[in-house]
Amino acid sequence: MGDCFAYACARAKHALLLYKSDASPAPTSLRPERPLVTDVSENLSAALHQIRRAERAAGRPEGATTLVAVSKTFDAVDVEPALAAGHRVFGENRVQEAQGKWPALRALHPGVELHLIGPLQSNKAADAVALFDVIHTVDRPKIARALHAEMERQHRRPAVFVQVNVGEEEQKAGCAPAETDALVALARDELGMEVAGLMCIPPFDEPPAPYFALLQKLARRNGLEGLSMGMSADYAEAIAFGATHVRVGSAIFGTRPKPE
Ligand SMILES: *Cc1c(COP(=O)(O)O)cnc(C)c1O
Repeated sequence: MGDCFAYACARAKHALLLYKSDASPAPTSLRPERPLVTDVSENLSAALHQIRRAERAAGRPEGATTLVAVSKTFDAVDVEPALAAGHRVFGENRVQEAQGKWPALRALHPGVELHLIGPLQSNKAADAVALFDVIHTVDRPKIARALHAEMERQHRRPAVFVQVNVGEEEQKAGCAPAETDALVALARDELGMEVAGLMCIPPFDEPPAPYFALLQKLARRNGLEGLSMGMSADYAEAIAFGATHVRVGSAIFGTRPKPE
């Protein structure tokens, strides 16, 4: 009830902002970079179209790739058009932000599948297991054990991906490529978690193809089907390398208004 009320308020505020901006346009220099109106449903269908095209080009079956619409930093009102268009698979990178946004949206739109795509601390494992259906960011033994313990306690079994730091970048999350087999063995074989596959975020300033190929190789040798790779700039290429989950944000919702 409280959530629905908060949601209705956010909606009204949004409408008011749009109205105000119509009535008195801000000077050009003060305008946000993001266009005030992004056609989310049009962007969504264009992305789905591109995905189907990339699947065909790669000789993969239609529907082999799931579009995870990344709604991080966007408010419920911005996500609504994607839900209205029938999309149900969404990605968030912060547990707390998702907790504030999704319970109300889920109550209004049954069938939502929520993916955690951002780094996870063990003290958030309980909340993550309670809220998310798929967790893409298992990158060390400690987090695998914390998630497993919570899954046992809550009798919930979200699927997980093991995140690999394919570019071995210091600032980036993910296990080293050489540690992948051991982490998969721990999560899947020792703890009995449902390991769907591997996930990566390649270095931003290099062509991603060799990194997609590396993740595909690591997954194959571990007998894993799932490959979570490809973002707005490179999802078609990721599909050529077997991506089963592409995580697309700005191409659907527009440029993010706030820092992540
Ligand atoms: C934000 C984010 C995305 C989406 O990025 P876009 O370039 O906006 O499509 C994908 N994956 C992860 C892990 C992210 O944090």
